[in-house]
Amino acid sequence: MFAEVVISRTASDLDKSFTYAIPETLQEEIKLGSAVVVPFGRRRDVGYVVGFVEQCEFKGIKEIISLAAAEPVFSEQAVQLARWMADYYLSFFLTALRLVMPPGIRKIEARRAVAKRETSGEKRQADAQRTTHNDSRLATALRLTDEQAAALKEITTALDAGQQKTFLLHGITGSGKTEVYLQAIAHILPKGESAIVLVPEISLTPQMIRRFSDRFGDLAVIIHSELKPKERAEAWRRVMSNEVRIVMGTRSALFAPVKNLGLIVLDEEYEHTYKSDKSPRYHANEVALELAKLHNAVVVYGSATPSLETYYRAEQGEFTRLVLPKRIDDRPLPPVTIVDLRAELKAGNFGVLSQRLSAALKETLENGQQAILFMNRLGYFTFVMCRDCGLTLQCPDCAVSLVYHTSDKQVRCSRCGHARPAPAFCPRCNSSSIRFFGTGTQRIEDEVAKLFPAARILRYDRDTVGQHGSHEKFFAAFAAGEADVMIGTQMVTKGLDIANVTLVGVISADTALSLPDFRSAEHTFQLLTQVAGRAGRHHLPGQVIIQSYNPEHYAIKAAAKHDYDLFYRRELEHRRELMYPPFTRLISVTVTAAEEKKAAKLIDQLADLLTARLKAGVLGPAPAPISRLRGEWRYHLLLKGTELTGMRSAVREVLAKAVIPADVKLAIDVEPLSLL
Ligand code: ADP
Ligand code: ZN
Ligand code: ZN
Repeated sequence: MFAEVVISRTASDLDKSFTYAIPETLQEEIKLGSAVVVPFGRRRDVGYVVGFVEQCEFKGIKEIISLAAAEPVFSEQAVQLARWMADYYLSFFLTALRLVMPPGIRKIEARRAVAKRETSGEKRQADAQRTTHNDSRLATALRLTDEQAAALKEITTALDAGQQKTFLLHGITGSGKTEVYLQAIAHILPKGESAIVLVPEISLTPQMIRRFSDRFGDLAVIIHSELKPKERAEAWRRVMSNEVRIVMGTRSALFAPVKNLGLIVLDEEYEHTYKSDKSPRYHANEVALELAKLHNAVVVYGSATPSLETYYRAEQGEFTRLVLPKRIDDRPLPPVTIVDLRAELKAGNFGVLSQRLSAALKETLENGQQAILFMNRLGYFTFVMCRDCGLTLQCPDCAVSLVYHTSDKQVRCSRCGHARPAPAFCPRCNSSSIRFFGTGTQRIEDEVAKLFPAARILRYDRDTVGQHGSHEKFFAAFAAGEADVMIGTQMVTKGLDIANVTLVGVISADTALSLPDFRSAEHTFQLLTQVAGRAGRHHLPGQVIIQSYNPEHYAIKAAAKHDYDLFYRRELEHRRELMYPPFTRLISVTVTAAEEKKAAKLIDQLADLLTARLKAGVLGPAPAPISRLRGEWRYHLLLKGTELTGMRSAVREVLAKAVIPADVKLAIDVEPLSLL
């Protein structure tokens, strides 16, 4: 027997495996997934066994020296998944393989042993029994509504039949999707199966996480990016030993080594955090489907605002759609009013709150109820301009406007953090006519405080979270009624389930619409629907006020009507006309370099090679919409076509031919979610 080994050190230059002979003494110990020490070149290296071959023609084959860790560090399915990811997302195999390896693997590479794992059948049975006692301190299941019960029935039927099936649980905000996830999981535990539950961001979903730990106690573990390496390794160990049967986490929780995977849940499947921003640039939604195939598991995508692609796939019959059309107890969705900001201006109101919104806020405060005000921009004024020469202050390292923050009277870059004192004179013409424009969260806080001096205001954005501690503290303080108004960015749009919140105000619905990305309308619709869903979730009726300079836009009108279908039909036509996903598939290629010429040269070369190979469907090359970032120049091109496999092969071939200088970075994004 011979082993196929990938060498840990070589990811960036050698994307292949090497064959080694297995010495007699190690025949028993070496398994798929074993970390081994091998001779490589003139030195020794750690490698991973990714397969076996019976024969090897090669003369002078070398032998594996020893095991680097007692137990395998990944399973066969994990290798298959990594192979699939490397192939689909055009990454190095070893880079993909690292995702499925236990944390602390670098230590193994420094030749330390990992914790032992137990896999005996008796252990599994004992675990299964332990969970059927599902302890008296734990919260019990709620009695499902008819709609919830019907959705659960379809899911459990597929689970019991061992069918590999994907559901789209399309339920409006507050319709009880989470309870369906909880009971589907409770259903598979007595069978000895496990579940993976993905959420877009751990810190923003504390209420949901708590419901899982209240229901499943120690059987659930949370894996997220803020775990310390030791905690992460411990969580991984508990999953491997089958002590833990429910893994909750962000996208990388997909790679936890669960036993007998039965169910994968992706909550708010449209969220862009499910897409990795590092190679392999995988999309957890797609990887979940592949993982489910390998384990014969069921996938449940849940959302009030499914992504266009997902909904389209459900329409085409690839996924089964389950609908929760009503809120629990028939609580109505809050009525939404759109305020035309152009009319406000004409009427002489230059403030950030329209007449309508400030009247509603006054009433809410008088009733002792709470309000959420949403604004997608940080800082006080969002741009600074010279009235004499027209210069706008830009970050020297990124192609974006600098934002004025009152707290320290500085102008700051929201992308790289560059900060400096706000200038009193124009840096170009030296005029004193420097003026500030645009609205950020600080300015709203200021205006609300002036209008309602007695109101207790909590500003919740990246600046204040940084200063005052965790997201959870903000959630808890607001839930406990320690503030009357919460003003914040995107972070206030999801997760909050607070009975006393009866007013949601959107200060400007237009900020997301203006982004140069074909998904900007979809993104706006999703944001507005989610934030509107925060109002009136319990016995008190709520209302929503959306302010906009584009009140006629279909994304805003559909969100105001809580009408997903209306939005979907309109947007789908739009995508068909422009030939964008779901009607085409995309691959983006972005080149970044400190020297502009080098970036431009490489992107031109890649564009020529790709055009020669593909003939059509190469858009660009061009400077990326964010043309400069952290001091580097960015150029990109986009491949658009209907046959993703062919497009992927073309990129693979071209990459093999192109000469990529060491000081130029290349990012390949298969099915990108952002084109900035
Ligand atoms: P979603 O995930 O669809 O936004 P949730 O699962 O958070 O909705 O449910 C909204 C609210 O209704 C929560 O407070 C939840 O505890 C409650 N709830 C869910 N299902 C039921 C049920 N069957 N009976 C009573 N209350 C329920
Ligand atoms: Zn000037
Ligand atoms: Zn910057």
